[in-house]
Formats: sequence, C-alpha cells, structure tokens
Amino acid sequence: VSAPIVFSGSPLDRLDQRRKDAAWITAQLGDESTRVLPVWRLSVLVRSGGTPSLAWATSSLLESVGAGTPPVFLGVVDQVAHFALDISSTAEPIKELEWEGVAEFPDLRAIAGQLPAGEAAIAAQARHLVDWHARHGHCPGCGSRTEARDGGYVRLCSECGAEHFPRTDPVVIMLATDGDRCLLGRQPNWPKPFFSALAGFVEPGESLEEAVRREVMEEAGIRVGAVRYLASQPWPFPASLMLGCVAEALDTQIVVDGAELEEAVWFTREQVVSAFESATQDLAVPPPVAIAHQLMRAWALEDARP
Ligand SMILES: [Zn+2]
Repeated sequence: VSAPIVFSGSPLDRLDQRRKDAAWITAQLGDESTRVLPVWRLSVLVRSGGTPSLAWATSSLLESVGAGTPPVFLGVVDQVAHFALDISSTAEPIKELEWEGVAEFPDLRAIAGQLPAGEAAIAAQARHLVDWHARHGHCPGCGSRTEARDGGYVRLCSECGAEHFPRTDPVVIMLATDGDRCLLGRQPNWPKPFFSALAGFVEPGESLEEAVRREVMEEAGIRVGAVRYLASQPWPFPASLMLGCVAEALDTQIVVDGAELEEAVWFTREQVVSAFESATQDLAVPPPVAIAHQLMRAWALEDARP
C-alpha cells in the first residue's frame, strides 16, 4: 500500500522505559513547555477555522479541570513531552475553558483525513488510551479499584496486585479477488450504492489467515485460498487494529448471510477505479481515510495480489 495510512505514522517517541519512572512523568507535567491534548467524551480538541490541526493546552489545564483521571503520556518530540487528558467531567469545556471560536471537539472520524501527517495517529493513541482508562477502573479478577501506572500504560489492582494492559482488538479486513474482480459487501444500514471490503474480528485461537477465510465464508459464502497481508491501520473506535489483506476466492457463487451483509457483489477493476473518482450509479467506495479504500487502490491500481 503506497499511500500513507491515516491513524499511523506518529512523530512521537513513546519512551516506554522512561514513562515507568513516576518522578520523571511528574517533572514533565511541571514543565511549561509540555503539551496536553484535551479529550472530551472521546473527541480530541482541534483548532477551529482553516485546516484542522490538534489544539494543545499547557499542563496548567490539569488545575483548571480539577483532579480526575491522571494524564496519559503520549510521547516526546523535540524534547517536548505530550500528554492526553480526559476532561469529560467538564460539562461544557468550550465555554468553561474559553475556547469558543478557537477550538472545538469534532467527530474524529470526520476530520482525521484532513489532519496534518502524524496528528491523526496522536489523536488515535489519545482516544484509544483515554477510552480504555474510562472503562477499566475495576480489576476484572477481584473487582477492586485499579490505578494508572507507567504514564497510563498499565492499571494496577490496589487489592490483588494484578497488572492490566490496554487492549487492542485485531480485525481482519480483506478484499477477496477472482482475477479481475473483487468482492465488496454492503451492510443493511449503509445507503446504496455504498460498498466496502468485508471485515470482522479475529477470534481467540485463530490465525489472521483463518479469520479471513472464516469471515468471507460466513458473510458471503465464498471459499478463500491464499491470503496475503498488505497493511494495517489503528482504528480507535474504540480499540481496533485493522489487518488489511487480499485473498484469493476459490469459488464465485455469493450467498450473503443477510445479517452482517445485506448484499455482496463482484465488482470489476474498471468499476472500482471509476468509483475512486466519484460515486457511480452502482458503486460508492469508502474515502481514503479508510484502509478499505487503500486495499482497493493497491489491488486495482498497483496490482497487489493474494
Ligand atoms: Zn484485583
């Protein structure tokens, strides 16, 4: 896949050894050059007007919003530490923190493709971690409170001492191909003629290749042979890692399951290439921000094969 994958390519060095040092983290939070990305109800703060870019606060924000979830360390670039801070307990942050006309909390999915290179990756890291902390306040082993450690990459149980780590859920997303045609599907809630690559969660005890074969069979009734991994994409809605593949279809008779997919169709290379320019009567494809688009592009224009 030749195009950059949105939500990857962060410029930050995560410093996974340094961030274990609580004194070092505290020192960074006391440094006035440190940058803090506010996250409110899973949206990151973005500058208003013009081309979107992340809007950073200083660590004095921690005093403005009061003690809540500790900030999550994102990494360092040019010796400046970057953190994310969940300010969801603030009812109306734009008004209360006087950011009106300066910054806003848009839907990350809608603006990710417009953010400067690398910034969507920072937003993904922030959203993924903040969401994980918000939902893992108690130990799944004993039910006691957990506390953030290591800059926010571990939660430690206060009672049984178990360590819990942020989870990432692998999802296979694949373009099954039959020579000059590829298989695309439409979920019941997608408007016609929008189609995308088939996708599904990898299950426990399953290889990536097995997950591809199972999903294509379940959703479209097509047997799959060779599977080739092409590229991956962090997808923080809330915690996925999309594993993009091309796969060789061994038969062509489509049988949709009717639940996950309402319709699946073989599209020719020409149809897919036309839809990159603009939606046709038969086909609208996902925008470049989605790895599904990049898989289609790699297959249709760069001859990526299983
Ligand atoms: Zn516990």
